[in-house]
Amino acid sequence: MNSDDTESILKKAIRFHGHQCPGLAMGIRVSGVALRELGKPAKDEELVAIVENNSCGVDAIQVLTGCTFGKGNLIFNDFGKYVYTFMNRENQRALRIAIKNEAVITDKQHLDLFAKVKKRTATPAEIEEFKRLHIEKSNAILNLPEDELLVTEEIAPEPLSMAHIHESIECARCGEPTMETRIRLLDGAPYCIPCFEKMMG
Ligand SMILES: [Zn+2]
Ligand SMILES: [Zn+2]
Repeated sequence: MNSDDTESILKKAIRFHGHQCPGLAMGIRVSGVALRELGKPAKDEELVAIVENNSCGVDAIQVLTGCTFGKGNLIFNDFGKYVYTFMNRENQRALRIAIKNEAVITDKQHLDLFAKVKKRTATPAEIEEFKRLHIEKSNAILNLPEDELLVTEEIAPEPLSMAHIHESIECARCGEPTMETRIRLLDGAPYCIPCFEKMMG
């Protein structure tokens, strides 16, 4: 990838995500490997991503690989791990990409500042310093040699069903259309989950 490409990919990811950060940089690197090894971004469901966290990097994966929440070709396994599995349904190839521990570790000063910014106790100078460190770490991840950042292995593809189109049924309480697979029945009448929980609660 030449630096012009890197620049425009970074811009595209930042436009979608809202800011530059280390997590976004990891998602950009992971997406780059997935697209290089498995082919072009998904227009439909030909490429599937299974992500094991729901942090910043997943936004880069959605915008760069076309594996998105809305299309149903982004699957979230809430394991809290920096692991990303991609499957190409057309050639049945699958790749497991894991970020190395050394690349995830952030220095203590950066972490302490992050905590202060989150708690809104950081001074304007500390906020500036935090932003500087965040972008510095992000750029370091973008430039790290691939073998120092992640481990990629080809794995056997898992059988995955395509996203289904379901009929909607009107909830007997709120009247809002609800996907039939999410309907709960009470005395034979159909209810959406929020209404069902209110009535049971
Ligand atoms: Zn972020
Ligand atoms: Zn309802």
